[in-house]
Amino acid sequence: MLARRLKALPPYLFAALDKKKEEAARRGIDIIDLSVGDPDIPTPPHIVEACCEALKDPRNHRYPSYEGMLAFREAVASWYERRKGVSLDAEREVLTLIGSKEGIAHAALAFLDEGDVALVPDPAYPVYRNATLLAGAKPFTVPLREENDFKPDLWSIPEDVAAKAKVLFLNYPNNPTTATASEDFFREVVDFAKEHEIIVFHDNPYSELTYDGYFAPSFLAVDGAIEVGIEFNSLSKTYNMTGWRIGFAVGNAEVLEGLKKMKTNIDSGTFQAIQVAAIAALTGPQECIRTATETYRRRRDILVECLNTVGIYAKKPKATFYVWARVPKGFSSVDFAMLLLEKAGILATPGVGFGEYGEGFLRFSLCESENRIKIACERLEKTLSGKLKQR
Ligand SMILES: *Cc1c(COP(=O)(O)O)cnc(C)c1O
Repeated sequence: MLARRLKALPPYLFAALDKKKEEAARRGIDIIDLSVGDPDIPTPPHIVEACCEALKDPRNHRYPSYEGMLAFREAVASWYERRKGVSLDAEREVLTLIGSKEGIAHAALAFLDEGDVALVPDPAYPVYRNATLLAGAKPFTVPLREENDFKPDLWSIPEDVAAKAKVLFLNYPNNPTTATASEDFFREVVDFAKEHEIIVFHDNPYSELTYDGYFAPSFLAVDGAIEVGIEFNSLSKTYNMTGWRIGFAVGNAEVLEGLKKMKTNIDSGTFQAIQVAAIAALTGPQECIRTATETYRRRRDILVECLNTVGIYAKKPKATFYVWARVPKGFSSVDFAMLLLEKAGILATPGVGFGEYGEGFLRFSLCESENRIKIACERLEKTLSGKLKQR
């Protein structure tokens, strides 16, 4: 019954994990879910309030414009100027999205034909590969290895593949590895993209979730980047708005025009009351970001210290709300995730769920309360202490 293109997709990892979680819960296990990247902190009240007001205005009840309200796009442009030092033309270089996931998937459809090649990092957020497959194109796997600090070695991509490739997906600060990228790395990306005429899709939803004074640059801050690509960003992680579904793409006007053309044929834009809330988020007080990152930082410190104590090696991330940990010797990532679920009631995501090069790692998210994370740590210490060998 299903179309071939849909049958070709692997089952969505998180759906499979949800099932395991339900099974364990039915057996009465109290599960501490550190598998999903979805903030437990509520959306700040001033943002909710702005939406409530906008909801009452009948002008917001009609179809929105395809590219999004100019006021929203202007708010994005000034936020990028203030936070990232990037100047954007709100009319041509900003496009409103129904969450960045929507934009990423439609960008693949807008720019990839059957048989085209997309360079897809591995491990990675699964949408890059799956959207490439839905477009009928071929993902070429670019490994992110620990010894390269989870950055792709672009110059090791075979010449004929690079010559044929049409797009390159990237994501720093990175989910799931938590790796960060410098402007030097982005400059290398621009050189590579120019040499091979490749469109860069840089996904940057964790740009504001940084710790210990680290600043995450925008891809567009680098000379020439706007000539080769666009950057996706989102209100989801920055303002705890995952359920609201609003994000945006910024950068190359021609690429955004192509993405918009695809979108006009599939969706009809983002509900205006939500765009008004997002304007309040981008232009209002920004303390909520500091409060959230401070919360995640405390959770990070507790979890990372405990993981290292029990023999699950992990570094403290400089950004994102994940911890990327090495699976101890003698286990696959799936086996070890199952052991944690069975023995400690802790759900973490096996690295292999993000691609074959994620094998050997486990991703813990920090979207549970400090108290629950402390309980998770007690359970880990009780069940695992002294039993594991580091890889
Ligand atoms: C969460 C996430 C997204 C999706 O964000 P939305 O704007 O909510 O669609 C995109 N990319 C990565 C890497 C993410 O982790």
